[in-house]
Amino acid sequence: NTPLHELDPDVAAAVDAELHRQQSTLEMIASENFAPVAVMEAQGSVLTNKYAEGYPGRRYYGGCEHVDVAEQIAIDRVKDLFGAEYANVQPHSGASANQAALFALAQPGDTILGLDLAHGGHLTHGMRLNFSGKQFDVVAYHVDENGLVDMAEVERLAKEHRPKVIIAGWSAYPRQLDFAEFRRIADEAGAFLWVDMAHFAGLVAAGLHPNPVPFADVVTSTTHKTLGGPRGGIILAKKEFAKKLNSSVFPGFQGGPLEHVIAAKAVSFKVAASDDFKERQQRTLDGARILAERLVRDDVKAVGVDVLSGGTDVHLVLVDLRNSELDGQQAEDRLHEVGITVNRNAIPNDPRPPMVTSGLRIGTPALATRGFTAEDFAEVADIIAETLKPSYDTESLKARVSALADKHPLYPGLK
Ligand code: PLP
Repeated sequence: NTPLHELDPDVAAAVDAELHRQQSTLEMIASENFAPVAVMEAQGSVLTNKYAEGYPGRRYYGGCEHVDVAEQIAIDRVKDLFGAEYANVQPHSGASANQAALFALAQPGDTILGLDLAHGGHLTHGMRLNFSGKQFDVVAYHVDENGLVDMAEVERLAKEHRPKVIIAGWSAYPRQLDFAEFRRIADEAGAFLWVDMAHFAGLVAAGLHPNPVPFADVVTSTTHKTLGGPRGGIILAKKEFAKKLNSSVFPGFQGGPLEHVIAAKAVSFKVAASDDFKERQQRTLDGARILAERLVRDDVKAVGVDVLSGGTDVHLVLVDLRNSELDGQQAEDRLHEVGITVNRNAIPNDPRPPMVTSGLRIGTPALATRGFTAEDFAEVADIIAETLKPSYDTESLKARVSALADKHPLYPGLK
């Protein structure tokens, strides 16, 4: 029972340093969030010791009576949260959920239609080096010149290629998708509709974003982005897909489920059903809108910084640096220097190489979880704008970042 700091000071030091980094900087990676202490407590619990292959009530191991309770709670809560007929809470990650979902709906060699990675899609939606791109025949749709998903192209490609599955979902897109229109196109093409709501699931849970569940055959998500839970994946679906999806997850792709993570997912679903969570998601949206508004002001545009699609309806803003002297890598590094963490991101038709890029993806979920208000987000936006200008004062910008971090302490009980 030796504590971590005594047993392994090297790993403990890395964990401590990471806690300090999270506390002292402003986390604006759009796919990140801060899990509540209760979620981390469940995730760090004795449930990590338990093998439980199978599903609640139908396990291949003895002694599952308590993990069965936790997993059933997770299933029931997530079905309620999103109005789903079926849920599987076992996928170890978003990519694992997507793999299980895709193989339940289609066979290797079948055609799939998804958003191009360079236009905001995810690796698992058909990228060449991913299982989805290697094993399926991929057709990609794109965004138009206004940065919006080109639904006319989706319809044209669906009619032409008759895909087995149409994928609606994104990793870097600042607008809402029209799920009813995707459903209509899928029906006309005889395709299944799979929505990957990994990024915006928290907004859906709060009722601040259209819910894809009534429209899609299968919906996948991560649990750690806007949803704010432990790292992991989930699959929701219509009842008729239950058997196929269950066997695709286990024994198809996974062995024993991570019951400690599943218990943590259950806790996060309880949190996500609360009024506090809804208020937090509203601040997330408000923060992103404020950020977009302040990054399209004349003094910022004058240095070549712009916002893709002109704004946002979700938790992130895509900054367009094609006309800036800074590329994505330089802008990411400069923000890092003042204490703001973002990621560079290729933008549609990016003239710079993928390791450099001409864009930034900036998200507000983690800061909203920290308690940031509209006023704080306006200050963050101004700090970002100043940092991206040719002459900037690192020390004063760092001080403004520290003042915001101090105003909203993160994990005050942890050391
Ligand atoms: N789906 C989408 C849309 C994502 O953005 C991501 C992660 O960035 C994933 C799936 C994969 O999630 P994970 O990193 O947990 O495998």
